[in-house]
Amino acid sequence: MSAYVTKLNTVRTTPILNVKDESPTVKTYTLHDNLCAKAKPGQFLMLWIPGIDEIPLSILNTGNGQVQFSVKAVGDATRHLHKMRTGDRLGVRGPFGTNFTESRGRVLLVGGGTGTAPLLFLAKRLAVKADRLSFIVGAKTKNELIYLDQLDPLCTDESAISTTEDGSYGLQCLATEPIDKLVDRQKFNMIYTCGPERMVRKI
Ligand SMILES: Cc1cc2nc3c(=O)[nH]c(=O)nc-3n(C[C@H](O)[C@H](O)[C@H](O)COP(=O)(O)OP(=O)(O)OC[C@H]3O[C@@H](n4cnc5c(N)ncnc54)[C@H](O)[C@@H]3O)c2cc1C
Repeated sequence: MSAYVTKLNTVRTTPILNVKDESPTVKTYTLHDNLCAKAKPGQFLMLWIPGIDEIPLSILNTGNGQVQFSVKAVGDATRHLHKMRTGDRLGVRGPFGTNFTESRGRVLLVGGGTGTAPLLFLAKRLAVKADRLSFIVGAKTKNELIYLDQLDPLCTDESAISTTEDGSYGLQCLATEPIDKLVDRQKFNMIYTCGPERMVRKI
């Protein structure tokens, strides 16, 4: 194993620098970690929640030696993490995984739930490369839609298309539905997606 791979695999403990509420069930955490701060969109880190578990999380953003990720409280580890505060210590390993290929031309990104996190990271990189960027973001209901304020300025021509299953915000449909109309109107060089498996399979 190379020295670099050994470094990636070694747990680094670091304090939580900031916690931000994205929705009633999703929080975004900022940590200092020089290795994860070099991650590319699509990569993930392994987060050690001391005494509880180690879980994979997609990287949401990097910069100034810091890394951000968003976490939805669903089970033991994620609920425990949601109770932690600024200054509490966590362990990180990574970054791991294959990053997205960054396409030029016309691109469409379709995110569902916390699957939107790696796509927001990607969209920030593509905004300076792609000719045209469209984003569809879907959730069950309005207060589960995340990152809307950040997505809109990245889209060309029109704002991000939001969908909710209960119709409480944006279009009342699944995130997959607006795709047909968009694809009829224009050709995309690349469509990126991340979210629930059923959504990804359909796209
Ligand atoms: C590459 C990758 C990237 C990811 N990125 C993100 C991300 O950016 N953000 C994010 O929030 N998540 C992400 N995840 C998912 C995240 O890793 C999981 O949500 C996390 O591991 C759940 O851990 P937990 O201990 O909180 O939940 P667990 O306790 O493992 O529970 C997970 C789910 O299983 C159910 N469950 C638990 N125990 C049982 C049981 N005994 N019987 C039946 N059901 C049960 C729970 O109700 C819950 O719905 C990612 C996963 C992968 C693989």
